[in-house]
Amino acid sequence: MSHTGPARRTEHGESERVRLDHIAVAVSNLEESLRFYQAQFGLSNLGVEIVEEQGVRVAKLDLGNTHLELLEPLADDTPVGKFISQRGPGIHHICIGVQDICAELEALKGHGARLIDEKPKIGAGGAQIAFLHPKSTGGVLIELSQPAEQ
Ligand code: ZN
Repeated sequence: MSHTGPARRTEHGESERVRLDHIAVAVSNLEESLRFYQAQFGLSNLGVEIVEEQGVRVAKLDLGNTHLELLEPLADDTPVGKFISQRGPGIHHICIGVQDICAELEALKGHGARLIDEKPKIGAGGAQIAFLHPKSTGGVLIELSQPAEQ
């Protein structure tokens, strides 16, 4: 097993190469959606942030061992704005947390996956992120995320 970067360990001691970082939902009204998840499921809001590069306002909710992200587009001509006008609000992408995003992207490319982002860019919380094209993942928009150094 090649060793790239500091391997995180789970409580059982095995190396955590990947994990579910978050599920992201496209919403038209962030405040309304926040009220729904807080009132119906008691989820706590970990913070709201504007990510200009992605054209979204993001709320991060605590889902125990993962997060739920609510994405409200900043304008209609942003990727999430277009998503909502084409399909309506709903699940937008899932995010797989990785330890070495560059190595994972190289490996995916080697296996013929289509990358939307050839190189990682900076997402919410300063994480390095990259998206894979749904055409090469069976229709699921998948984001990879390597957390910012603590
Ligand atoms: Zn995401």
